[in-house]
Amino acid sequence: MNFRIGQGIDVHQLKKGLPLYIGGILIPHDKGSLGHSDGDVLIHSIIDAILGAISEHDIGYHFPSEEKKWKNKPSEYFLKNIYSILLEKNYLIGNIDSTIILQEPTISPYIEKMNKNISKILNLNEKDISIKATTTDKLGFIGKKKGIAATTIILILKKNGS
Ligand code: ZN
Repeated sequence: MNFRIGQGIDVHQLKKGLPLYIGGILIPHDKGSLGHSDGDVLIHSIIDAILGAISEHDIGYHFPSEEKKWKNKPSEYFLKNIYSILLEKNYLIGNIDSTIILQEPTISPYIEKMNKNISKILNLNEKDISIKATTTDKLGFIGKKKGIAATTIILILKKNGS
């Protein structure tokens, strides 16, 4: 059996007047993620988990933030690109477990949409992706609503005969 696991973590600042994208879903809020791309913490943590599982560096290596062409690109573009590397290496995704950490807004009404969106991009059943949300109980930069974070663990499997 050829299983591998990967983990990813991402953090962005929250700033007034910016759009808040999580899992590719635009969430109505007075603050949004500050980042070179759309600052989607969930997708960025999934990308780093995939790259970790296949030992292929990290998101910044593949899409350097100094390069202007990645500016304001939707994170789904990066996820699709990294997913194709996983397929080229003959791996399949077993399951994904993610946690989004933020104080507000309440994102539970959007979790199902995020799950649908990501499972579509990664060709997965919705039950093979778990997206959870938690707060830091008002502690630290997340609790003070200055930032947002996400962590992901992924299991991948080598395709038969490869
Ligand atoms: Zn990021």
